[in-house]
Parts: sequence; C-alpha cells; structure tokens
Amino acid sequence: MTENKRAIDMRNKNDLIVIGGAGGFIGGSLARYFTDQGFTRIRAIDKKPLYEWYQVVPGVESLCMDLSEKESAIRACEGAVEVYNLAADMGGMGFIERFRVECLRSILVNTHMIEAAYNAGADRYFFSSSACAYNTDLQKDPHVRALKESDAYPAMSERGYGWEKLLSEMFCQEYWAERGLKTAIARFHNVYGPHGTWDGGREKAPAALCRKVIEAKDSGDLTIDIWGDGLQTRSFMYIDDCVQGIDMIMHSDALIATPINLGSSELIAINDLVSMAEAIGGVTLARTHDMDAPRGVAGRNSDNTFIQEVLGWEPSTPFREGLALTYAWIEQQYNDRKAGKRTVS
Ligand code: NAD
Repeated sequence: MTENKRAIDMRNKNDLIVIGGAGGFIGGSLARYFTDQGFTRIRAIDKKPLYEWYQVVPGVESLCMDLSEKESAIRACEGAVEVYNLAADMGGMGFIERFRVECLRSILVNTHMIEAAYNAGADRYFFSSSACAYNTDLQKDPHVRALKESDAYPAMSERGYGWEKLLSEMFCQEYWAERGLKTAIARFHNVYGPHGTWDGGREKAPAALCRKVIEAKDSGDLTIDIWGDGLQTRSFMYIDDCVQGIDMIMHSDALIATPINLGSSELIAINDLVSMAEAIGGVTLARTHDMDAPRGVAGRNSDNTFIQEVLGWEPSTPFREGLALTYAWIEQQYNDRKAGKRTVS
C-alpha cells in the first residue's frame, strides 16, 4: 500500500494520460476519475462517434478513432506518459458467445496500442483483461472455488473473448521482459454500475435484470425471464472499486507484467440477484427460466488473496448497495428514453 501510494504521488498532474475505449463504461468512468483527481491532460479515444459515448467528460480531449488501425494507435499514443487500453468489442454472455470473431479481433487494438505506447516512450501501459481468461474446466460447478491468478494455465479460456485476453496478456508480459515497458494487467470480474450498458444485447446480468424489473413494473406484466436455471453464480464489482483498483494496480511496481484479479469476492446466485432487484423495485415477479439462453460458466468468483497481499486492498462495495445505485440510474435512463431524451443504451 505504501509503495503504491508513493508511485501515485510521483506522477505529475500534467502528464498526458491516454484512455482507449473511453466512450464505453469503464473507460469513461476512468476519464472522470482522473479528472476528479486533478489530472489536466487526458486524451480519451473510442471508435464510436462522440454522441454515442456513455460519458463525455468536460476538459478531456475526446477523439473518435478506430484503435485497431495502426496509424490511429500511433496518433492516440503521441506524447503519452500513461496508456490505458480499455477498448474491446465486448458484452455480456449473449454477446461473447455469439460474436467470437468480433471478440478475437480486439487483439488488433492491443497489438497496435502497446507497440505505439512503447514507441512513444510511455512510462506505463495498462491492459484490461478478464476472468474469462481463466480455465473454463474449473468453472463447471456453481459452488465454485474462487479463481486465483495461477488458474489461467494450463489454458482453456472462454472461446474467442477469453483467448484474446490471454494472448494480449502475453504481449504485455513480453513487452516488459524484452523491451522494458512497464505493463499492468488486471483480470476484471463482472463490473457493474451507473453509466454502463443496460439494454441492446451487450448488457450484463445486473443491468439486464434491473431493466427487466423496471420494464415489468412499467408494463404491468409482472413476469421476469431469467437466462438458465438462475443457480449460476458470479461476483460483481462496483465501478468505483474498479477505477480505484486500476489506478492502484497500474502504479504498483510489485505488479509489473503480473496478471492480477480485480473483482469482488462476494458470490451471488443469479436468482438472488433477481430477488434483490425485486426488493429494490418493491415488486415480486413470476419467474420463467429460458434454458436455451446463453448462461456462461456455472460459477465464478475472484480469489483476492494476492491483491490483499500486494495492495492491502480489495473491492468492497456491498453488492446490494451498488445494485441499488445502478437500479436508480437505469430507472432514470428508462424514464428518459420514454420521454424521448437521449440515453446511454
Ligand atoms: P464497453 O463496451 O462499455 O467499452 C468498450 C469500448 O471500447 C466501447 O465504447 C467500444 O466502442 C470501444 N472500442 C471497441 N473497439 C474499439 C476500437 N477498435 N477502437 C476504439 N474503441 C473501440 O465495455 P467495458 O465494460 O467498459 O469494458 C472495458 C474493458 O474491460 C474491455 O477490455 C473489457 O473486455 C474489459 N472487461 C470488462 C468487464 C465488465 O464486466 N464490464 C469484465 C471483464 C473485462
């Protein structure tokens, strides 16, 4: 913790910070976080046109570029002191099980961004990996043993999305080993919160289920459809914990080129998530289970022994608390959309 703090304090508030994928959920929240921390030069980049960004943070240089193209990556990293790569084609299970080619093609973003960051002389490079990089054979039981960092090998990642993450992690490790670029690799476990995708097919379980409860209440059709038997378990990390963790991991010299879990260790069954969303919405719904829908692995949790050891910290926002904030934000979005206003999803 103290070592980490020292590294943060050594940074200059005028250092240029580049964030790829900043039109999305986590990248946008990171741009806001660094702005709030007093950093004055932030370059935010996304391939989506600006009007589709989830957050456009005032004072941040916001550019629309496709970072899977080499020239764009070079332009993006010009003058950068730190580069955060949060850009990927991704979504919940419905997306990553159906669109494996799109997921795999994100390899181009990391390949060009890390090379561009290195050539630009950046000090540090961050890669957003995922719990989907872990061996799926270890995730067949809902009563999971939490995944620890060494469980990624022998490799049997989620097809498409998970393998892209694993290979990009290796790029980060070899750029450090061969070229001395300080890289940081965090394996995120399901992130949720305000300003995330909540509709349209790429949303994840917490947002999707909040939306379904809100829709049921609004329509008066008091039913809810759940993907799978609902016994599958996950842990969910609140967005504020995520951006704080990114900052700490990026600036810990003990973690250079070392993949680390960034996730909550509070395990939640999907059926319990539904009950919590119902309680927040003040309604009880009749449940149906779609056994043909994508469900992903049976269970997954984050073993936080290593992050506790190195940083003396772990994501700790109680799920019920984070879900209430997320529900309130989605309800506002839902009402705004009904009123014809612009919304995130
Ligand atoms: P998101 O979809 O909200 O944001 C990703 C952004 O990247 C999008 O705005 C997208 O337009 C942009 N992007 C995609 N390809 C691009 C390209 N070629 N050039 C420029 N921009 C491009 O997703 P998120 O939840 O913010 O995820 C951010 C990162 O964290 C991703 O790498 C994702 O794989 C990883 N991750 C997220 C979660 C989660 O639960 N949200 C879990 C594990 C890992």
